[in-house]
Amino acid sequence: VVGGLAVSTLFTLIFIPTFQSGLENALAWIRKLDWRIKTIQLIIFAGGSLLIYFDVDSFIWQLADLFLLVLVIPALTYFIIISLRQAKTKLIGKDEAITIRIRNLMKIYDQDSKFVSEWKRSKNVKSDAKAEQKAGVKIADKFLWQLPLLGYLIYFAYFYLENSFWEIFFAVITYFYFMYLWSSASQLLNKYLKLSAGLLLKIGKIILWFYPLASMIFFYFKHQTVSTTLLFIIIWYCAIIVYTTSNRLHHEKININRLTGKFTRIRRSFYQIVKSIPIIGKKKVPFKALNGVSIDIKSGMFGLLGPNGAGKTTLMRMICGILNQSYGKIYINGIDTNEKREELQGLIGYLPQEFGMYENMTAEEFLNYQAILKNLIDNEKREKMVRYVLESVHMIDHKDEKISSFSGGMKQRIGIAQILLHLPKILVVDEPTAGLDPRERIRFRNLLVELSRERVVVFSTHIIEDVSSSCNTVAVLNRGELRYLGEPVKMTKIAEGKVWHFYVQATDFEKIKNDFTIIHHMRDGDRIRIRCLSSKKPDEEAESVQPTLEDAYLWIQSGKEIA
Ligand code: ADP
Ligand code: MG
Repeated sequence: VVGGLAVSTLFTLIFIPTFQSGLENALAWIRKLDWRIKTIQLIIFAGGSLLIYFDVDSFIWQLADLFLLVLVIPALTYFIIISLRQAKTKLIGKDEAITIRIRNLMKIYDQDSKFVSEWKRSKNVKSDAKAEQKAGVKIADKFLWQLPLLGYLIYFAYFYLENSFWEIFFAVITYFYFMYLWSSASQLLNKYLKLSAGLLLKIGKIILWFYPLASMIFFYFKHQTVSTTLLFIIIWYCAIIVYTTSNRLHHEKININRLTGKFTRIRRSFYQIVKSIPIIGKKKVPFKALNGVSIDIKSGMFGLLGPNGAGKTTLMRMICGILNQSYGKIYINGIDTNEKREELQGLIGYLPQEFGMYENMTAEEFLNYQAILKNLIDNEKREKMVRYVLESVHMIDHKDEKISSFSGGMKQRIGIAQILLHLPKILVVDEPTAGLDPRERIRFRNLLVELSRERVVVFSTHIIEDVSSSCNTVAVLNRGELRYLGEPVKMTKIAEGKVWHFYVQATDFEKIKNDFTIIHHMRDGDRIRIRCLSSKKPDEEAESVQPTLEDAYLWIQSGKEIA
């Protein structure tokens, strides 16, 4: 009876919904196929069916083969189409200008899967509205009829079964069921017998931790096997530890990268292990890293400006097709990047924020090696290409020096050279100027401007100067939202009439410090000269001054309305 119930539950709850959603996806895919492919599939199917009808004798085998045919034909088609897709730039002509159109792009990290979110939604519907008021009665209703079932399970697991494996299996199920019922029971006890929540929580913990031990002691006296008992005790307790730890990490919102106190190293590794264990360990909190961003990017330099954590890397990775977009679309010359990802790949070159290089090679060796990996096998062509990219990034004079001897900026340039090997029309560079000294930064920026003459260059930065002096267009991101899009020069207009200079007595400074966004202040005798952002005149004597790009940027970041 229990076996039958379990199987039918599995069927209705998991197998059928999964199968149905899979079928729906498959049908949607078939509908989208080109008519020629559909025709070929149909012909093969017809031919196969005839072959089966005439060649196979028994009806059962005919049926089985037909079923196989229905599965194999679409699967093979899918496989062939996928393998034929590759990085071809054919979709977009060589001299065609590139525009990237981003519409309403969203990224939610650690989003629930489709199945889980449906499940949660149905739960929400059930627990809605008036049901809350009658909760007590409802719980009692739901709870009482399950008690006999629990009794039966206990009898079945501990007294009826003889085989030790099944015994432990059902003991674990009984344990889960017991814990599940305890949560309803404790609500009822709290409501009707007025037992304190703290006490009930303690009892719950005692059951959680001692039930397995009691179970295994019982098991030991029944079967007298020390090794099996010990083994299962260890496994069981490990699982409980993982479960409770992951719960704690989740509820207390512990950031494992910012642990303090003793044994941080050991604790961090332990937490990381816990987090990586599926089902019992993994508790994800969805995080919205990009929220409805719409941008048009044309040839030239495009700057992405924003503080750390704004979502710049996320956006760039989605443009390059490394990350999936949660909602929204990205089009390159009108082609949906989601549909033609492989085909568009050859168009894009991406330099991540941090990348590794072979420090022991010289610049030329390294680029030669990378070129071979990119399938430039012809010696003459390859040499020409390597020379060309070394010249493009102004590193030809250093081609025989080891990479380990290069400065940060030079390494960045070699990184760019490596990407230029396949002549991308879109160059995406993530915070290349961070960590470079001012002179290197300027040189590197100028290099990007040069490269942007014949391609789209998207580059991110948190340095305002980078944008003002080189970009045609800038997008300012903050916490996943697009705060400004347009020319850098026009951005300063946003802060017009919002920037003020005034003096306060040094003693009064503490008082007004938190009232405005202070950009800088400087001691001048016993007074302090302040430059601040404010929509109203901050002081009688204050005078309005011409804003800079930095003022505008800070104004945008401060979250005030952009008027
Ligand atoms: P930026 O490059 O502007 O500094 P990111 O795009 O790297 O910002 O990150 C944006 C936000 O998304 C950050 O708050 C970060 O913590 C979060 N985030 C980034 N990657 C992940 C990830 N794999 N899982 C969960 N959250 C992430
Ligand atoms: Mg980043």
